[in-house]
Amino acid sequence: LLVVDGVSKSFGSNHVLKDISLTIRRGDVTCIIGASGSGKSTLLRCLNRLETPDSGVVYLDGCPVGMKWEKNKLYEMHPKELAAQRQAMGMVFQGFHLFPHLTALENIMQAPLTVKKEKYEDSRKAGMELLDRVGLVEKARFYPHQLSGGQQQRIAIARSLAMKPKVMLFDEPTSALDPELVGEVLWVMKSLAQDGMTMAVVTHEMAFARDVANHVVFMDGGYIVEEGAPESVIGNPQHERTKSFLSRV
Ligand code: ATP
Ligand code: MG
Repeated sequence: LLVVDGVSKSFGSNHVLKDISLTIRRGDVTCIIGASGSGKSTLLRCLNRLETPDSGVVYLDGCPVGMKWEKNKLYEMHPKELAAQRQAMGMVFQGFHLFPHLTALENIMQAPLTVKKEKYEDSRKAGMELLDRVGLVEKARFYPHQLSGGQQQRIAIARSLAMKPKVMLFDEPTSALDPELVGEVLWVMKSLAQDGMTMAVVTHEMAFARDVANHVVFMDGGYIVEEGAPESVIGNPQHERTKSFLSRV
């Protein structure tokens, strides 16, 4: 579904991603782990081109993200085309970024109504189903400030799902939460995974990576040092740097 082919990215002299290649298949739950500053967020942001790679290409369903072929060369595509492509990739960040002046339900309905021009009743019905899926039907009319961080993050997930993405990208979705609220968000993510959603998750939650991921990627210094099944990467790491990282978390 997603193929990262030789992606490199620098910020000035800071070489953050060094020739990264990675494949995410349909239904995969890929957890990206690694120390702070190892390039995890940058990699995730390169997937939907929130960051533009210096070199390398990301393919979504075989199509280069943000680029198109013309006369056997790849060119930057029009921002409108990129926006359409991005709809296929839902993204959930550490912060919740809900619209403060909209209710939970309105937050979920907003993109389907404005971007997809869905009918009001259709998006309302779909919105209520999504609220049910994240266990928050009774909060439909609540505003973000009336919700806990965990509830806000579940609404943020529902809002991404409303656009019917092919893949969901999560960047440390639980690290801004009070510890007692982490579980409810992980529960929603786990149920998504069980429904077959393709997911790439940057996380420090090793228990989640071990239980839910089928593929774990360990990054260090802009490289993928080790990747594979959670039983091997987390359960039986081969590289010294993976071992030392895991002993610290
Ligand atoms: P963390 O676990 O702390 O979130 P990370 O693995 O997600 O870390 P990145 O956010 O990808 O790491 O950052 C990798 C490196 O790139 C860091 O040295 C960071 O300072 C740098 N960096 C990231 N984004 C930018 C930017 N927009 N401009 C300049 N430098 C950046
Ligand atoms: Mg990060």
